[in-house]
Amino acid sequence: MTTAAAYAELISKLKRAHVLGTVNGLLGWDEQVNLPPDSADLRAEQLALMAELQHAAASNPCVGELLTLLEGRPGELSTDQQVVLKYSRRDFDRVTKLPPEFVSEKARHSSKAFHAWAECKAKSDFAGYAPFIEQHIKLAKQEAAYLGCTGAPYDYMIDRHDPGMTAAVIERLFGELKQSLVPLMREIVSSPVKARTGIFRGFPVEQQRTFLHSVTERIGFNYRRGRIDVSLHPFCEGSGADIRMTTHFDEHNPLNSLFSAIHETGHGLYEQGTRSDHQGTPLGQAVGMAVHESQSRLWENQVARSRPFWRFFEPRFRETFSAQLGAVSSDELYLAVNAVRPTLIRVDADEVTYNLHIILRFEIEKRLFAGTLAVADLPAAWNALAQELLGLTPASDREGVLQDVHWSGGMFGYFPSYCLGNMMAAQFWYQAQDDLPGLDDDFARGDFSRLLGWLRRNIHEQGRRHDTRELVKVVTGEPLNPKHLLRYLSERYLPLYRG
Ligand code: ZN
Repeated sequence: MTTAAAYAELISKLKRAHVLGTVNGLLGWDEQVNLPPDSADLRAEQLALMAELQHAAASNPCVGELLTLLEGRPGELSTDQQVVLKYSRRDFDRVTKLPPEFVSEKARHSSKAFHAWAECKAKSDFAGYAPFIEQHIKLAKQEAAYLGCTGAPYDYMIDRHDPGMTAAVIERLFGELKQSLVPLMREIVSSPVKARTGIFRGFPVEQQRTFLHSVTERIGFNYRRGRIDVSLHPFCEGSGADIRMTTHFDEHNPLNSLFSAIHETGHGLYEQGTRSDHQGTPLGQAVGMAVHESQSRLWENQVARSRPFWRFFEPRFRETFSAQLGAVSSDELYLAVNAVRPTLIRVDADEVTYNLHIILRFEIEKRLFAGTLAVADLPAAWNALAQELLGLTPASDREGVLQDVHWSGGMFGYFPSYCLGNMMAAQFWYQAQDDLPGLDDDFARGDFSRLLGWLRRNIHEQGRRHDTRELVKVVTGEPLNPKHLLRYLSERYLPLYRG
């Protein structure tokens, strides 16, 4: 077989697995957005069948043979083709090196652990949940061993979400961030200036929907290749030509639905910006979780919480909600957009304190995997860190160690991506400003196209050409550095809260 023919055959097999994956994704989206209440059993069967078909396509032995053949002819492959080969091998190994019995054992355990978590969270009963975490850590170590990462299972878990990232690198970055972020947060929180978030009452959902649609379209989301609906928890699903985003509405919290939608739009813009000629191959895919989160956070925070953004959108917001906003001044509105208030609950956290929630979880995961923290001692360790970082101690495990669903699914090494994404967003933001003078004026005119074009060229269209750390270096000329996030948070929040 010629190299060109083998490569073409590989691409066609990858695309087949990808298309099956998109069908699966669509069924999952529909389940959360549209599914009639008594149709869940059939949907579970449909999802299981699609997952089986997708797995069979992705683990097709022909893919392995083609990879081996092409790996033997590196001199005949272009740089792009070598990228495709490298990541296709990585993906193929991850779907084929785990024995099917292990995969189903993990799925079964996750399902049981999820129900145990929901029950134990309701009762604030950590002891009942502990054996499930214990077992999940064992399974994670076993999984790492199957992939040849026996010595560093936590690194393996991290690398699954953010290729190229390690626990040691994260530890250094988070350590530097924590040192300055804790005093910065304390200064903001002790300020006499307080945002009044309770001033928003009675914002009709239909008008909120219209407004957020116009905002997300204006910043660049293409509604001919995607849509936004409502689900319990906002998410973004799909790739390339069909992106499904969701938000949720609260009549008394219009900023929440708006910022959720802008966040998901950031994810959607990344996916819409991947190259259409590479759909289904590593060159048409996102790098990983942290880079994805950098895109959602950059739009949500750096852009949509800025003065220039509101210079353009405030008159439109007031026009839509004139009755509700009559007594709210511009400054009050802008302060509410940038409210900071430490809370014990991660999903309710603002962008300053959010990072501390993540540092806490990373610290715990690191110790669990190193064996220096026993699962039984988790609540005590959690509460001590919450006090140290947030200045708050949970009254019960429900608002402490039991609050997140992630560990019930064995999702370790996933939390750090949120904070790494925040760091990256700030670093990309300053680079974009250097490269594109006058961005503030663009935003004040409601023009986001230069920023989006920059993100497209530098990040979206690169696919998985660079791993997480390389990408940051290629785009900004320096390795990931928390000082940019600290600078951004200081510049955004200190002028507001120093009064
Ligand atoms: Zn996100």
